[in-house]
Amino acid sequence: MIKYLDLQRITRMHQTEIEQAVHKVVDSGWYLQGEQLQRFERNYAAFIGTKFCVGCGNGLDALTLIFKAYMEQGRLAPGDEVLVPANTYIASILSITANGLVPVLVEPLPNTLQMDVEDAAKKCSTKTRALLLVHLYGRCAYTEKLAALCMQHDLLLVEDNAQAHGCCYGTQRTGSLGHAAAHSFYPGKNLGALGDAGAVTTNDEELARIIKSLGNYGSVEKYNFAYEGRNSRMDDIQAAVLNVKLKYLDADNQRRKEIASTYLLHMENTHVRLVRADADCVYHIFPVFTEQRKALQQHLYNCGIETAIHYPIPPHKQHCYKQWADAYLPVTEKIHREEVSIPLHQALNNDEIEQVIRSINAFEGR
Ligand SMILES: *Cc1c(COP(=O)(O)O)cnc(C)c1O
Repeated sequence: MIKYLDLQRITRMHQTEIEQAVHKVVDSGWYLQGEQLQRFERNYAAFIGTKFCVGCGNGLDALTLIFKAYMEQGRLAPGDEVLVPANTYIASILSITANGLVPVLVEPLPNTLQMDVEDAAKKCSTKTRALLLVHLYGRCAYTEKLAALCMQHDLLLVEDNAQAHGCCYGTQRTGSLGHAAAHSFYPGKNLGALGDAGAVTTNDEELARIIKSLGNYGSVEKYNFAYEGRNSRMDDIQAAVLNVKLKYLDADNQRRKEIASTYLLHMENTHVRLVRADADCVYHIFPVFTEQRKALQQHLYNCGIETAIHYPIPPHKQHCYKQWADAYLPVTEKIHREEVSIPLHQALNNDEIEQVIRSINAFEGR
């Protein structure tokens, strides 16, 4: 069986080095706010191309703390509207509602799967203060048109870079394009820890300082609390793992791109639609689309290939957001109805890649 995501094999690519790094932390007796975290924050800021990086507990916290810090600064207030793609993972939207802000769901374009800037412009109101851009599937969602829209309405541009570590826009990395960016190092992401971890990158020194404080109970110095904070820190064991894996991220992404090119070159099936991405895409997910999702998944399963769906139900159809159940978002709903994610990661071998292509091409539909 070809697993959708084979984390054991991915870890084994650098297992000895990872184990040595973890062992050093275990041996040091220093497990939080230590040297490994400091090193990771420095390394990752340099990698992304921002002045600051603040480690935190996970990707959702990274997003939530960015908005909370803007509230602390008075740059956002409860009831302000935040434009966000309707077809994102629910965490993007949770970070907005958790702060008493109002998400405004924007449709994607079917040929890019990313935010439709014209729909975003239409949905701008006098209360719109920020735009949360999600580089979904590892595709850069930033465009000049989008930057112009943010300028025109004086919007804070926040990036959700959970799925696109290492992705570029020209010579810049995603995560350095807006005012602040959130990153998740959930094990299955392109840069994955061996547990939960996340980070914020930004060039805004004050914002970085507030986020650091918010994730540490709101403390500015020991036992002196400026903000009503929480506990959301990246522990040093995860930082040590990430310091090892960051060195290989560009090479891992290169391998993902190679596999994607092979898929795009050889996959051909009238029942299966591919949506091309530009050359900078880091393929966190390789989505294909079909009106016969169940049948395609079953067929691939019978061929020994595990698949996934990102995501089966859009946020506005979730029970927790039942107030939006009747929102008119046909492009989003079609994506959620038809998407199938097929295996693509740096540890896949050529035989497996060939098997995936052969199996997709052999799907006969109903
Ligand atoms: C994974 C993910 C998150 C959440 O990250 P966690 O570390 O799991 O909290 C947020 N947004 C997107 C787009 C993601 O894919």
